[in-house]
Parts: sequence; C-alpha cells; structure tokens
Amino acid sequence: MTYLSRRALCIAPYTAGEQPKDKSYIKLNTNENPYPPSPRVREVLKAFETDTLRLYPRPDADPLREAIARAEGVSPQNVFCGNGSDEVLALSFPAFFDEGGLPACFADLTYSFYEVFASFFGVNTHIVPLKEDFTFDLEGMLNADCAGYYLCNPNAPTGIALPLQTVEAFVSAAKEKGRVVIADEAYMDFFGESAVPLTKKYDNLLVVKTFSKSYSLAGIRCGYAVGDEELVSALFRMKDCFNSYPVDAVCQAVCAAAVEDKEYREKTCALVKSERERLRGELLSLGFTVPKSGANFLFAGRVKMSGEELYTALKREGVLVRFWNKPILKEFLRITVGTPAENDALLEKLKFILR
Ligand SMILES: *Cc1c(COP(=O)(O)O)cnc(C)c1O
Repeated sequence: MTYLSRRALCIAPYTAGEQPKDKSYIKLNTNENPYPPSPRVREVLKAFETDTLRLYPRPDADPLREAIARAEGVSPQNVFCGNGSDEVLALSFPAFFDEGGLPACFADLTYSFYEVFASFFGVNTHIVPLKEDFTFDLEGMLNADCAGYYLCNPNAPTGIALPLQTVEAFVSAAKEKGRVVIADEAYMDFFGESAVPLTKKYDNLLVVKTFSKSYSLAGIRCGYAVGDEELVSALFRMKDCFNSYPVDAVCQAVCAAAVEDKEYREKTCALVKSERERLRGELLSLGFTVPKSGANFLFAGRVKMSGEELYTALKREGVLVRFWNKPILKEFLRITVGTPAENDALLEKLKFILR
C-alpha cells in the first residue's frame, strides 16, 4: 500500500552538485561565479522597503522584464522570467511538446535536467550522441523526427561553444521543418555570441538565460527567456497553471539592478575568462585532455586516474569538483573556474595527486 502516485514512485530526479557543510572547501563543483554580485545589488537590498513585502509581487515581473528587455535590445513582451532558468526550461516542455507526442531532441551529453523534465512531463525524447570530439551532431539532430530541440550553448558539461553562425544555420533549418529550438545560454556571457538577436528573425527560437552564473546570483533564483511573443506567451500560460508569482519582489528588484550593471558583469566575466585560459593551459601541460571552453568551467580528463578517483583525492585535499559515473563522462571531471588563488590551489593539489 502506498499513498504516492506512480510518478512520485518512479521518477529519477536531477541530482544537484553537493553543497557540503562539514568543512569549508574550495568549491569548484557547481559553476558558481567566484566573484560577488554587482555592488548595486547590495544598495538595492539596503534600500528595500520591507513593508512592501506585505503585498504579492508583480505576477509577470513587469519592471524586471522591462530592464531585461532594455539590456537585450528586445521588447518586454518578448521576455519571460522564472524562478531560476531551470523553471523556465521546465515550463518550456509542456509549452512546446505534447505528452506522448513527437519527441524533444537533444544530445546524450548535455544538461541532464532536460531528460528529467521530459520524463516528468511525459514528453518523448530523441537522444543524439555527441561526435567523437564532443561537439553536437547537428546534422543527426536535424535528421531526427522530432518537434524541437534543446541546444545547450556553450554545452554542459563539455564547455564547448557553437559560433553564432552555426546556431543560425541550425535554427533556420529547424524552422524549415517547423521545429522549435530552445537555446540554453546559461554560460553564454563567458563566450559572447548570444543568439538573442536571432529571435527577431526566427519565430521558432527561444533563448534561455540565467542570473546564476555570469551575474553571480545563484542564491536569488532567477532566469529568463527571450523569444517571439507567441512562444513567450505560452510560457506565461504554463506558469499560471503552476505558480502565479514565481519571481518574488526582492528577486525582481535585485535582478533589475544587476542586469543594468553591464559593465560590472563584463569585468567579472573577463576575469573568469582569462583564468579559464590559464587553467586550461596548466591542465593541458599536466596531461589532461581539455576541450576549449566557452563557459566558466573546464571539462578535463583522460589521465591515469578516473574522474571519481580524482574527485575523491581532491576532496580529501579540500577541493570540490564534479564527477560522473556514466560511460565517457567517468574519465572526466568538470572543474569550475575559481579565483586565481583557488585555481592555484587546485593545480598544486592535482600535481601532488598525479605524481
Ligand atoms: C546552471 C544552469 C542552468 C540553470 O540555472 P538556474 O540557477 O536554475 O538559473 C540551466 N542550464 C544550464 C546548462 C546550467 O548549467
């Protein structure tokens, strides 16, 4: 006898990266930004009128959507905000795919939440393996019989980025087949070729972004989508079937201030990017295979120890990274780019472990 639904009994949920409390670690495991958020965030929080928390927030996050629209060069009706981009991605499944209908197509090694969402919403999937060099098999994906695509760019966990031209060719080919493309650009600010401008030309493209990575605001939970009004309004309809107020009032104020501080975001992203290149060079010289990354992390492996062995040894030394128990992935680690001091500590421990 159970009180639970079949779904509650059977679903395999997403496992988030560990956030241990036993001691303080150098955390290079969840792709958080090593720098603090914009100083404007602190100002907003200091000045926040707590009496207004008596009231529900703006259900459609209008002032925040206007700020995002200004920053992205689009109109507010082309912007949807959610409680983290994970929520935006979740809502996109029922918005664009029929239960039990034509599948959602994505790569085998990509953001693992897509598979969980598809399973939760009863959406079929068509999985296309990455090519030998870990890049997307875009032709294979276009040849799949499906209703649309999830294209994580830069991809996680490989960090490999597709140039804008390639994305445009893919979106255009998908449009000819009447298919939607959801571009997950969680890490795009560390690469710099966002497909947002294409949303004006292609009504089948939805670009999803987050405040968690480049804005250093993973703790506040906000993400957004930019696309044609028809796609965006479908997300609003899905939202209003779950939660009318997913973006709280504090979050709306904080994120509006953060999105307006482009200069700060660009400054911290530049620091992360230059450290990423330095760290990659050092890992290559230690013998790691490390694809070129457009994100704030590196996918590194194929040394004499498995990902899990390296993870365990690094954890003992006080450094957290991410590993997997799946084929191919098990040879690799995903290492978030930290501050120069954190990266130096990681390198020193790796040299010690691999000796
Ligand atoms: C971090 C991440 C997200 C979501 O982050 P939120 O914190 O929910 O906004 C989405 N997609 C990818 C690929 C990510 O790595």
